[in-house]
Amino acid sequence: MKKTVLLFIVIFFMQNITAQTTYILCGKLIDTQSGKINTKKTIVVEKNKIIDVMDGYVMPKSGISIDLRDKVVMPGLIDMHVHLEMEYDKNARINEYILNEADIAYNSVKFAKRTLKNGFTTVRDLGGTGVNISLRNAINEGKIPGPRVFTAGSALATTGGHADPTNGSSRKLLGNPGPKEGVVNSVEDAKKAVRQRYKNGADCIKITATGGVLSVAKSGDNPQFTIEEVKAICDMAKDYGMHVAAHAHGDVGMQRAVIGGVKTIEHGTYMGDETMEIMKKHDAYLVPTITAGKEVVAKAKIKGFYPDVVIPKALAVGPQIQGTFARAYKKGVGIAFGTDAGVFKHGANGKEFGFMVEAGMPAIETIQSATITNAKILKMQGEIGQVKKGFFADIIAVNDDPTKNISTMENVVFVMKNGVVYKKQ
Ligand SMILES: [Zn+2]
Repeated sequence: MKKTVLLFIVIFFMQNITAQTTYILCGKLIDTQSGKINTKKTIVVEKNKIIDVMDGYVMPKSGISIDLRDKVVMPGLIDMHVHLEMEYDKNARINEYILNEADIAYNSVKFAKRTLKNGFTTVRDLGGTGVNISLRNAINEGKIPGPRVFTAGSALATTGGHADPTNGSSRKLLGNPGPKEGVVNSVEDAKKAVRQRYKNGADCIKITATGGVLSVAKSGDNPQFTIEEVKAICDMAKDYGMHVAAHAHGDVGMQRAVIGGVKTIEHGTYMGDETMEIMKKHDAYLVPTITAGKEVVAKAKIKGFYPDVVIPKALAVGPQIQGTFARAYKKGVGIAFGTDAGVFKHGANGKEFGFMVEAGMPAIETIQSATITNAKILKMQGEIGQVKKGFFADIIAVNDDPTKNISTMENVVFVMKNGVVYKKQ
């Protein structure tokens, strides 16, 4: 007994002696809370945490230093809307029928790594087959590199709705998907589906409140849930400590979603002025996904890339998204940075910053949206989204000052997540 205690004490001290201290010298450091850019700072990292942020350049007596004196340093970025299981290409429809979960898992490893290497140290995965739950676990256990993942597992839809997994299938493959598969058609179904996702290990809930662009269905914007169903989902999710994200293009379905209690509206394409006011009242956020809007327009022009039924929807919805974002921002709706990566190439998430700035949001606010705001929605505001003592050591750097050159956000040159360096020039 005594020997065991002694052994534990020895191990405890050895761990503390060997704990590596890293000093990161920052030429410029963005304070996401105040929106100020400070100069000449040193971040001290031990294990997975920031233990100090000091004035000036402090050279370590022991430990290692990372020289970012000619870089602009900021906290790791957070994308509130990605799909790490897939990347849309002209084979996407066929892939739904021929890929097994293991195939999807191998693909997702590549996408997760690319996302992290481009400066996104945390993401919210808004739906796939459910492999994203295992992906999150593998990343958390250090088996593979990737961002910190908060996942919805698989999304919830109504029959024939945007996320009905058998949409557009031949009749012999249609089956009869229910709450387990993510298809709900009543308040009871809705409750069961949320509980099932909790059981599966999801962190949040995603619903497709209206039609969508890439589903094989006619309408891209019709309302697809009753208000009672949305309310049941949001109330149930709350019981399990989960928030709800709603994909929505059309205004009617969007309003029902916000009144029903969802936290974020994804895309928000045809959002009316009244809905914007309701969002402010309910403290709901718009996740713009402008990059995805631009992408579907470009790809709809390539013959054979999308099924025929998708093309008119892509051409109608895509061009609206940036303008809606501009209106919502001006009206004071909360903006949560999110891209819908997977609809376009994973890793290109940083393009969204430029599109947001182009639409009238100051550069520093786009970065605050991708850090402070998103951390708050994920209830991680005391742990991520700032370079601050006690926070996780999620730290990235770019070459230029983004307030002068926003495209620098597309070229992240240094990435540390949880105190581990994943990219260094
Ligand atoms: Zn999406």
